[in-house]
Amino acid sequence: MKPAPFTRHVPRTVAEAVEILSKVAPEDGRVLAGGQSLVPIMAFRLAKPAHLVDINEIAELARVDNDGKALAIGAIARHAAFHKPAVEGPLGALLSAVARHIAHYPIRTRGTFCGSVAHADPASEWCLVAATLDATMVAKSARGERRIAAKDFFQGIMTTALAEDELLTHVRLPLLPADAKFGFNEFNRRAGDFAMSAALAVYRMEDGKIVEPRIGVGGTEPFPRRIPQAEAALDGQAPGDKVFRAAAEAAAKAVDAMEDHQTTADYRRDLVRAVVRRALEHRA
Ligand SMILES: Cc1cc2nc3c(=O)[nH]c(=O)nc-3n(C[C@H](O)[C@H](O)[C@H](O)COP(=O)(O)OP(=O)(O)OC[C@H]3O[C@@H](n4cnc5c(N)ncnc54)[C@H](O)[C@@H]3O)c2cc1C
Repeated sequence: MKPAPFTRHVPRTVAEAVEILSKVAPEDGRVLAGGQSLVPIMAFRLAKPAHLVDINEIAELARVDNDGKALAIGAIARHAAFHKPAVEGPLGALLSAVARHIAHYPIRTRGTFCGSVAHADPASEWCLVAATLDATMVAKSARGERRIAAKDFFQGIMTTALAEDELLTHVRLPLLPADAKFGFNEFNRRAGDFAMSAALAVYRMEDGKIVEPRIGVGGTEPFPRRIPQAEAALDGQAPGDKVFRAAAEAAAKAVDAMEDHQTTADYRRDLVRAVVRRALEHRA
């Protein structure tokens, strides 16, 4: 099928984009970033936006900047921008390790980090990274700019705190300390598919003990989130099989796993047990 007719707007600046969005959003206008989720949905006529605000010509939004505190990822930075480390240290390595799990190479050259975050698929790897690292989303509209913490941003399956006239201009990921360790694991039946469950583990070591643990789980509940019970099982413990299994068990108990056409809630809970343990075992 072909998409329903629409008008394409091509702003050159953020100011122009939010001005257009303020006019067309009430008439079912949408932002077009990489188009890797929106265009297929339009082709199936599951969405019929009357206007697309194509942000691909706004050069300033292609930047990925390190300001010493955070990595600011602009709205048209592609998934492929993270194939090689975008920043020195553990954060750059973490983003590279995760990027290769997203879809397939051609999709990664077009789809965007911020588009994934705005689209908020429960299984999105970038949403999991944003939730686990407590990212800040920067949204602009004709009404001004606001910053939204990850814990408030993700609200449900493909539902976020963004208003219909807001452009997600950047996602700010806090830099990780030089001694941070991380591990990522996801389960899917075929390479490139969306994860049926995924986990990201990040922590530091002090005097042989785990400190500042972060355990995020995605693809399991309507949106990814940190799991405090799993983090508590790690905090202050020496890393090892027993502790990792205890954290994985705590995560499996804590999640309210979704059921869908692919799997039951019980199976998905089992997957959480597996992906959390594997993320902890394969830490870098
Ligand atoms: C075969 C296939 C496999 C895939 N596998 C995976 C996978 O394993 N993991 C994964 O995470 N993704 C996967 N994807 C999706 C892909 O990563 C998309 O690139 C991503 O979900 C959306 O990014 P985009 O830039 O293409 O956004 P678009 O498709 O352009 O937009 C998606 C939605 O977000 C909105 N939006 C986009 N950018 C902004 C913004 N800056 N501000 C406000 N709203 C905005 C749009 O209006 C639209 O509603 C897959 C896609 C395909 C086709």
